[in-house]
Amino acid sequence: MAVNVLILGGGFGGLTAAIQLRKQGFDVTLVSERDYAYIYPISIWIPTREIEFKDACLPLDDIARRYGIKLIVNPVASVDASMGRVELADGSALAYDYLIIAMGADKTRPKGVEHTSSICGRPEAAKDIREQLDGLISRGAGRIAVGFGGNPKDPSAVRGGPAFEFVFNIHYLLKKKGLLDNFKLTMFAPMPQPGIRLGEKAYNMMLSWFDRLGIERRFGKKIKEFQEQAVIFEDGSELGADLIMFIAAGNGHKVLMRSGLPQNEAGFLLINDHCQVKGHDNVFAVGDSAALDGPKWRAKQGHLAEVMARVAADNIKDLSRGRKPAAGYQKHISILCVMDFGNGAAYVHRDDNSSTVRPLPVVGHWLKKAWGHYWKLNKNGRVPRLPGT
Ligand SMILES: Cc1cc2nc3c(=O)[nH]c(=O)nc-3n(C[C@H](O)[C@H](O)[C@H](O)COP(=O)(O)OP(=O)(O)OC[C@H]3O[C@@H](n4cnc5c(N)ncnc54)[C@H](O)[C@@H]3O)c2cc1C
Repeated sequence: MAVNVLILGGGFGGLTAAIQLRKQGFDVTLVSERDYAYIYPISIWIPTREIEFKDACLPLDDIARRYGIKLIVNPVASVDASMGRVELADGSALAYDYLIIAMGADKTRPKGVEHTSSICGRPEAAKDIREQLDGLISRGAGRIAVGFGGNPKDPSAVRGGPAFEFVFNIHYLLKKKGLLDNFKLTMFAPMPQPGIRLGEKAYNMMLSWFDRLGIERRFGKKIKEFQEQAVIFEDGSELGADLIMFIAAGNGHKVLMRSGLPQNEAGFLLINDHCQVKGHDNVFAVGDSAALDGPKWRAKQGHLAEVMARVAADNIKDLSRGRKPAAGYQKHISILCVMDFGNGAAYVHRDDNSSTVRPLPVVGHWLKKAWGHYWKLNKNGRVPRLPGT
């Protein structure tokens, strides 16, 4: 009888696992709350109108048809691994031989966060930010504050890269429109050296960009709360802004926090090196849903979610053939990003042995754009995976 793998979540991790397991001949069911995969890394260009919303979406039904994946578009309501059962929002239930959890993460909710907008939450928020930005541009002036927070319960759940990219891209857009003198751009974060996990060189390079571009910094100031058009800091100071783009730190997914599966203090699922959830040999967690183990600077990223998905798929293959799982994700932990600033980018790589930063004026921007096309073509099976991706 065919082995049935149930995958929860159709993002970076879930989609990669589904494709890999179908190539290995498993019966695969993919459950996603939405009918498209959202390509977060290129969504930074939706607010600046560099791309349309649809360009950052990859329809899941085309991929499901191509690979023979059974796709169910319906939110997961609960996971009960002790019963081997997953319940969906419509009340239907699914069983599995192997389960892969790839549902991403939720966000912490600092006081007053409803007065901010985030590029890292629900995809549609990118369109709301675009409208707010359009409004300020037609007014011809404004104050824009961009920031991100940390989660002391899991420092790997911070997402600062897109905040830096967002502020640099807005700077470039305003410069092109000749409006820079009428706008005030400020970046804020509670940690004294936000972005330091990218490595010393990358951090210093970013600081020099801030100085060169005239973007104000409020680093190392704990955030007390957000109010309408203001960030209030614990030291009593405040930052007024017409648009606040704030990326709250990640937190465990609310459905998984109720699942009874073992988790760390922040609600991320505890896994071993093979991506198996501790105490559950046939349940795997990959990507942002999982608690990562590894170097202090580790971060939840899309490329790592894909590595973990392939690790989980390989281990399911081994287990289903009566072998011990052999693949591990920890040796692959690295930070890899092409940090875009509108008219160029910087290639940043960090692993256990080295940290590299390479400024790529002009060409870096187009490389990142090309990566977005490549990702879609690769997932659609039209081009093979590039080595090292
Ligand atoms: C703006 C931005 C820019 C980024 N840039 C980069 C970058 O340049 N490089 C990089 O490596 N990483 C980047 N990242 C991080 C990267 O996008 C994430 O690490 C990656 O998406 C994690 O993959 P995942 O599969 O774990 O989660 P996701 O990709 O978030 O997928 C989770 C999936 O689960 C689904 N889901 C959630 N809840 C349910 C439910 N109840 N029922 C059913 N389905 C559900 C969601 O709809 C989604 O499809 C960026 C992130 C953001 C937000």
